[in-house]
Amino acid sequence: MRVDDIFRNARQANEQPVSFEMFPPKGELTLEQARDIAGELAQLGPDFISVTYSAGGSGNSGATASIASMISHELGVASVAHLTCISLTRDGLREKIDEFRAAGIENVLALRGDLPAGMSEAEAGDIAFPYAKDLVPELVDAGFCVGGAAYPEGHLTCEDLNLSVEHLKQKQDAGASFLVTQLCFDNEYIYRFLDMARVAGITVPITVGIMPFMSKQQITRMVFTCGASLPSPVIKLLAKYEDDPESLRAAGIDYACRQLEDLAAHGVDGLHVYAMNRPSVARAAMSALRSA
Ligand code: FAD
Repeated sequence: MRVDDIFRNARQANEQPVSFEMFPPKGELTLEQARDIAGELAQLGPDFISVTYSAGGSGNSGATASIASMISHELGVASVAHLTCISLTRDGLREKIDEFRAAGIENVLALRGDLPAGMSEAEAGDIAFPYAKDLVPELVDAGFCVGGAAYPEGHLTCEDLNLSVEHLKQKQDAGASFLVTQLCFDNEYIYRFLDMARVAGITVPITVGIMPFMSKQQITRMVFTCGASLPSPVIKLLAKYEDDPESLRAAGIDYACRQLEDLAAHGVDGLHVYAMNRPSVARAAMSALRSA
């Protein structure tokens, strides 16, 4: 099913689609591993599951289409295949489109991705699609339902939030029909961003991405790689459970569940859980939302 139809139906029914993100399991990939994770996620009844793509074609990026296809066609849950364009040539895109079509993919999250660490733009040479907005119309023309990434606190490389929202509007203008936000630990930033997006004329559904923090190491990496800020309640939890990883993990899941409940009460367009291939995280989120 197309994700724009999922949001359209949900709007009419006054409901908020709930979705999960998973990634192709790292290392020696077997589709069985992915099937186990996706199967557990699917049992929770999400509206769709998105599958990440490793930028630059490294890692298990080739598995994105097979996993998304398996989710839709074997598990009966709508799926979204991510695709990054930073290292994609025009021929490479044509191949990807053929691959996605052959796999029966309907929905694609169009992303720029990032250059591998240490590689400069000069070293990268000619980039056929410099921004995600350049990838969007190609995928729309190929018949896919296309989404884009949104940044409640602005993108790490764009200091001005207004400009970041202008860039986001370009994705809608290029044909994106839904947006998924970057993780954010402070709902006030999310509400401010959603207001700015509406004022800027963004009318497509924006589903809000929430990721529970699981460890000090993970949250530090997140903060530095995506620029999300840490509000003081999170810092206090990190300090409180500094020597107790299990309690910190539980506190991280609980914090994310409270965020989701608050977002649901505010009537956001949708909720997207970065489940990190841990069905237990998705299960906790679903049960918090059902009892809210
Ligand atoms: P863009 O929208 O192209 O933006 C990149 C930068 O360029 C921003 O600073 C933006 O403000 C600026 N910009 C945009 N348009 C213009 C313009 N017209 N002129 C000047 N500047 C402009 N990465 C992966 O590798 N694989 C994944 O599967 C993946 N999934 C993701 C899912 C979500 C929901 C999110 C939020 C991010 C995901 N990422 C993924 C990370 C993403 O690839 C990085 O955040 C990347 O740095 C930016 O991607 P983008 O699509 O937002 O790029």
